[in-house]
Amino acid sequence: MPGKLDMKFYSMNSPKKGYSWETPPEPVLESEIAETHKADVIFIGGGISGLAAAARCVSQGLDCIIIDKNERMVAVAGQIGAINSKEMEAQGLRVDKKKFAADWLKVSGSRVEESLMWIFINRSGEGFEWMLSLTDGEVYPRVYVGYKGPMFNEYPATHHLYLKEGSTQYNARGGGMLACEIFEKDYLKNGGKLSRGTTALYLEKDAGGRVVSCVAKSGDGKLSRYIGERAVVLATGDASDDKEMLEAFCPIGLRASKQYKRPGNTGDGQKMAYWAGAAIDNPEWAPTLHVLGYSGLQFFFLHVNRLGKRFMNEDTWMQAKSVRCLMQPGGDFAFSVFDSKYLDEIGARWDIIGGQGMTPHHMVDEGFDREVIAGSIERLMKGESIRHDGYDITNDPNCKKADTLEELAEKMDVPADNLIASVKRYNELAAQGDDADFGKRSELLTSITEPPFYALKWGPSLLDIFGGALINAELNVIGSDSNPIPGLYAVGNAAGGMYAVDYPLLLNGNSYGRALAYCMQLADSLTGKL
Ligand SMILES: Cc1cc2nc3c(=O)[nH]c(=O)nc-3n(C[C@H](O)[C@H](O)[C@H](O)COP(=O)(O)OP(=O)(O)OC[C@H]3O[C@@H](n4cnc5c(N)ncnc54)[C@H](O)[C@@H]3O)c2cc1C
Repeated sequence: MPGKLDMKFYSMNSPKKGYSWETPPEPVLESEIAETHKADVIFIGGGISGLAAAARCVSQGLDCIIIDKNERMVAVAGQIGAINSKEMEAQGLRVDKKKFAADWLKVSGSRVEESLMWIFINRSGEGFEWMLSLTDGEVYPRVYVGYKGPMFNEYPATHHLYLKEGSTQYNARGGGMLACEIFEKDYLKNGGKLSRGTTALYLEKDAGGRVVSCVAKSGDGKLSRYIGERAVVLATGDASDDKEMLEAFCPIGLRASKQYKRPGNTGDGQKMAYWAGAAIDNPEWAPTLHVLGYSGLQFFFLHVNRLGKRFMNEDTWMQAKSVRCLMQPGGDFAFSVFDSKYLDEIGARWDIIGGQGMTPHHMVDEGFDREVIAGSIERLMKGESIRHDGYDITNDPNCKKADTLEELAEKMDVPADNLIASVKRYNELAAQGDDADFGKRSELLTSITEPPFYALKWGPSLLDIFGGALINAELNVIGSDSNPIPGLYAVGNAAGGMYAVDYPLLLNGNSYGRALAYCMQLADSLTGKL
């Protein structure tokens, strides 16, 4: 007799360690609920995923309410991944979807739901065109030029948004803020309701197990019930600002001392889904770790760890650099070491670098500018930040300069004999034109011989972690018994299934791209078009 099959999802759906998030809050007393609001669909979260999906739902005739715990819109992004957009077609660019899918699966250790990945692949371009169609031609896209080396693929489907001169509709000049503004404007124009400064506390089910509402608290402490007659949609973003969730699902995220914190990304949607019986993505959730800590620059020069030793092929993307750095003794930061020839060396190689590999993308877009790079290094030596958003300002110089390697090692606080040996070996490899130690392409091997010598301190910063409530292709949240939970849906970073292990920077802006794909899919799902 065959044994009874256990059809439960293999997922993190049972308490492991007694984390505080495992315990749901006590329901509030009925008498404390001051107001009840009703709509076809309640969106919890009004970031890019909530705004885009709600805008699409309203445009398809659904009555919607968005609640968001922030008092103002928060949108952090510059790039939007949209596969095979019209702009790409106009430029003769085309992504081979099957190759892209294979690459995505490799980066994710095959731990993703392929159906969700394919929704992104097939519908991000459609969502992108729909977004542009809302702007009366006031917004136009450009495709970003990716990395040009042999270490990884950066597919040419990343877009930047630009506002046309004389635009009257929008305030944001570009990026994620503009995308969110486009959706919010259209949503409100079509009668959608938006309540910012309102935090969802927990979900409620009816006697049949259908999720029918959430209880939320506004800034003045008033409690309200929001009833979604057709659906309640979690769009609450990621959990990177909750240390216990990081420990449980993405422990490497705890290693980076720098974090780009956004107000509200405490995994509320993941927690609410968990309390409602949802299956949650298995660890390891994929983190986004960008080289934004300390100087924010590293280029392709010799990289040494805190022992003064070379540890990687420096010709790689910034997620990989961040992870490799975190795996080093002392982790957290490393150094890029170069000499007085650095500007000529960067300039001569600018056209073969490309993409997120070694330079911040504003620099890639604007082309090689000697003054900008030299000015950045000067500012870093004075302990000033080179970022414009006030993030990571430090009084501690993140670039050191010295006339000898001994003196440089002392300023870096690394063992001088190690640094000298690393530079000597690197110079030998550069002279041979063959990196037998780490396999870097020979065009990027440059010698370190002409003083003064420089050491640029760089390190990873945690941006987001990607994991959430498992969903099916209708974006309906799945319970730990493997059955869909009626009435409960998830989009964006609150939703699981599409990322695992490592963030696939093979298409920059895929997070915003997923929001655009899922907005189309959710509206079709809730209006019975799938
Ligand atoms: C520095 C930085 C740069 C980035 N650059 C890019 C980029 O170029 N391209 C890209 O695609 N991605 C980028 N990302 C990632 C991107 O910002 C996120 O993945 C994306 O915003 C996720 O969208 P979302 O709608 O799921 O979540 P969010 O944008 O985080 O929105 C979630 C919303 O839910 C609200 N919320 C949370 N809990 C509750 C609750 N209990 N009740 C009510 N509301 C709640 C929050 O206030 C928030 O407004 C970047 C991230 C960072 C940090």
